[in-house]
Amino acid sequence: MTDRDTRHKNAMQKLKQHVDDKVAAATEERGLLMVFTGNGKGKTTAAWGTVTRALGYGYRVGVVQFIKGLWECGERERLVEDLNLDVAIMATGFTWDTQNRESDTAACLEVWREAERMLADPEVYLVVLDELTYMLKFGYLDIATVTAALENRPSDQTVIITGRNAHRDLLAMADTITEMQEVRHAFNNGLKARRGIDF
Ligand code: ATP
Ligand code: MG
Repeated sequence: MTDRDTRHKNAMQKLKQHVDDKVAAATEERGLLMVFTGNGKGKTTAAWGTVTRALGYGYRVGVVQFIKGLWECGERERLVEDLNLDVAIMATGFTWDTQNRESDTAACLEVWREAERMLADPEVYLVVLDELTYMLKFGYLDIATVTAALENRPSDQTVIITGRNAHRDLLAMADTITEMQEVRHAFNNGLKARRGIDF
């Protein structure tokens, strides 16, 4: 063995010990609250990736799409045939299109009822609240209503919330927070969003 091989072997052994210790320390088992936030690309795709993962094991999954419900979405097209997937979409276009606070609030509250139904159902293993953060930011939904529904959900249920500028109360409750950081985005160099890639 060369010096480099020996150093590598020692480093790997150390790493294995470190990972083993962490695995041994992780003993609690319950559903998680995860927040995918930040300005970079990947929040919604990461959520759909997790939906696919859960469906792969035959778990029941609920997805609620706030704001962009009427937009095309390749994952939804593909997965909606799965009987274990329940999708609820907000019945309005983008808020910048409608610019009507009253009708947007009504549409938000209507789809929130679907979210509450999922969050109360112990059969639903994973709930995705896509772009929920904006509902709180625009004042369509009350933070206390959301945190109450999250706190009272079945203990085995995992929830993923996506969107920029997550409310600090959501961050305080979350078990996992991932902040997608924009290093560069093609759109800012004049490149059009691509079907099957961006939506
Ligand atoms: P994705 O749906 O691709 O995972 P996202 O959920 O992280 O993205 P959103 O803010 O919800 O991001 O925006 C959705 C759409 O806007 C996608 O088409 C995505 O490619 C695009 N997008 C995401 N981040 C940026 C950015 N920083 N600048 C411009 N466009 C973006
Ligand atoms: Mg998104």
